[in-house]
Amino acid sequence: MPTRVPPWKWGPRNVHFDSYIQRLVSERGYGVEREYFGIETEERAEQVRKGMRNAGRHLNVSVKAFWKSCNGCAEGGKSCRYHVAFTAYDPEKAREYKAQGSQSSRPQ
Ligand SMILES: [Zn+2]
Repeated sequence: MPTRVPPWKWGPRNVHFDSYIQRLVSERGYGVEREYFGIETEERAEQVRKGMRNAGRHLNVSVKAFWKSCNGCAEGGKSCRYHVAFTAYDPEKAREYKAQGSQSSRPQ
């Protein structure tokens, strides 16, 4: 399987989205979903989603991010086609949750 990664600037080192996660956590805390609006292409939506996940890794918080199509919104402007929803989670809680999950899936 070829796993060639395009040499664009949206790799794991990109820190562009760190400030979004930082602001979300400082303004709203953990477990609150926020949306990034105004994305015009699916490719860009995927870049934003990955960017949010990477930002979580940089900042040592657990980030859930996914994109969805826009059904017409006031926030994203006329060319808005996609939104990325992102939520930050307390890394401690996320670890506990994962630990619980692996425990319950253990054979009895
Ligand atoms: Zn929109």
